[in-house]
Amino acid sequence: MALNAQWAEAWLRECARVLAEHRTELIELDRAIGDADHGENMHRGFSAVLTKLDDGGQETPAAALKLAAMTLMSTVGGAAGPLYGTAFLRAATALGDEREVGASGVVGFLTAARDGVVARGKAEPGDKTMVDAWTPAVEAAGTAEAAGATAAEALKAAANAAQAGAAGTEPLIARKGRASYLGERSAGHRDPGAVSTALILQAAADIAER
Ligand code: ADP
Ligand code: MG
Ligand code: MG
Repeated sequence: MALNAQWAEAWLRECARVLAEHRTELIELDRAIGDADHGENMHRGFSAVLTKLDDGGQETPAAALKLAAMTLMSTVGGAAGPLYGTAFLRAATALGDEREVGASGVVGFLTAARDGVVARGKAEPGDKTMVDAWTPAVEAAGTAEAAGATAAEALKAAANAAQAGAAGTEPLIARKGRASYLGERSAGHRDPGAVSTALILQAAADIAER
């Protein structure tokens, strides 16, 4: 489908569905290196987004993403709430009043989201955080766009790269967030926030493909 307001709304609804489905997995990942609440936090946040979407009235992709940002900031809590809130808010700002997002728009909003996460959390690639999913996603979308990909193809490339990035956090030692308290014992587990980022980007790509 075209990446319009309906896409953005369907993406957020798919996030809620997928995060509910992966709630236990994210809890277990966070139990290993954190405080076992990431699945709960994300499920609560996106359930609240669903309720807000039901009120309707989002006429642009940015409006839907901004609604999600505000809701996530006020309902998710922990580290992930402000990080995802900032990501979605910056993405919305990057999209402005565009009604249909093209491939360069995909690169633009993903870059803005990633930059927002970095501005907020100060993590670098390799610190074993969600940045390790966002950054390869941004790079892959950029490469795809430069090669002439459609918006949906750019999103798919981003989602695949995020998934690989999340898998790649397993051997890393955490240097930011709660997992960093574990030091070397944080190695051997995937970062929960990198996994949730991969799920969120996969949802965006799946809806775009319909
Ligand atoms: P909390 O750690 O407060 O319980 P969550 O469990 O919901 O919050 O989220 C944890 C995730 O947040 C981590 O897996 C990591 O991906 C992400 N995170 C934590 N701190 C940072 C940071 N400084 N920069 C980027 N991401 C971070
Ligand atoms: Mg946690
Ligand atoms: Mg917590």
